[in-house]
Amino acid sequence: MPLDPKAAVASLKELRALTADANGAQRVAWTDTWLKARAWFEGKLKDLPVEYHYDAAGNRWVTLPGASEKALILGSHLDSVPNGGWLDGCLGVMAAFEVLRHIAEDYRGKPPVTIRLVDWADEEGARFGRSLFGSSAFAGTHSIEADRGRTDRDGIRLEDAVRQCGVDIDAIGDAQQERKNAAAYLELHIEQGPVLERLGLPLAAVLGTKGVERHAITFFGQEAHSGSTPMMDRHDALAAAAKLALEIRNIAGKHPDAVCTMGSVKTFPGIVTAVVGRCETTLDQRDLDADVLAAMFAEARAKSEQFAAEEKCTVEWSRIWNIEPVPFHPHLIDLCEEAIRETAGKSHRMPSGPLHDAAEVARAGIPTVMLFVQSLKGISHNKIEDTQEEHLELAVAAFDRLASKTIAWIQA
Ligand SMILES: [Zn+2]
Repeated sequence: MPLDPKAAVASLKELRALTADANGAQRVAWTDTWLKARAWFEGKLKDLPVEYHYDAAGNRWVTLPGASEKALILGSHLDSVPNGGWLDGCLGVMAAFEVLRHIAEDYRGKPPVTIRLVDWADEEGARFGRSLFGSSAFAGTHSIEADRGRTDRDGIRLEDAVRQCGVDIDAIGDAQQERKNAAAYLELHIEQGPVLERLGLPLAAVLGTKGVERHAITFFGQEAHSGSTPMMDRHDALAAAAKLALEIRNIAGKHPDAVCTMGSVKTFPGIVTAVVGRCETTLDQRDLDADVLAAMFAEARAKSEQFAAEEKCTVEWSRIWNIEPVPFHPHLIDLCEEAIRETAGKSHRMPSGPLHDAAEVARAGIPTVMLFVQSLKGISHNKIEDTQEEHLELAVAAFDRLASKTIAWIQA
């Protein structure tokens, strides 16, 4: 049987019927519904010439041995957020399954390189606030001590919840053994944003995941009476912050995919009869290029000092959180574009704002690329999350072509 993209879509509907209610998908990791989804998936493996097991972090591995031990890994995640959609994560797993089935049949069970499918454990971090659980254990970037004490809203500890699912928190680092012979990693995912729909394109090659710089910025002026203080004598902390809030549009605007957001502004004393003496703000800056990110950070900082001086104020910065950009593999990005062009005619390249398991795999040094398919209205993590079925089928077909090209690349 040739590749059957409709079978992948039919499986997604089967999974939805099994694990969604009126509010959406309920496959939250380390819950009974998630285990039900994983048992359902295991049932699909029975007729394939594959070995399968869970690793020490609860990631599901399915292996089709090839002539070479070098492995092409295809993966994504079956877990969802509460009240989630029918595509986030599980599209990538069901597409990987269909491609694996197709390759097993094409090569009569013995492809030139080993093909592995992975269903990562707890990508979303919805219950314990710890995203990319399984893939970070695989990559060796996990942090057991920081995660051990996490609890869900009922006070159940992460350590105990994962043990219920057969995972010993102290042993999850053993998942790194699965990196042996890994030659490339491919992941299909919905875009979760509005860009492809606006462009009228079904598919895109993903350049990597954006880095983030997140800071608290506080402007200090002088509280003073709103009636008795002439305009020229004011030290208005809000005026300095307001200038920066507008300036970040210019700062981001110099770079094609950069974004800057001032998401919070608090004024003190915050009353109608006082000039603002202190203004606390936050700034979130993102880009795929580490140099761009560093330049935007430096420019915002310099501008904040300029505006503080203009308003006879001072300013202090403190970092809340940051993560470096994770660029994907240049040659695999090219192969992904080729596969898209051959399947859908026109391709597009774009960075990912959200993080994905693929970022952890890339950080482990394994050549990685992702393929995005259009999301209707750019919405995900919600029951209305959707993609045209015709686009889902194109995505599975393009993913299959990408897998073939990557097999040839690994062989060479
Ligand atoms: Zn996802």
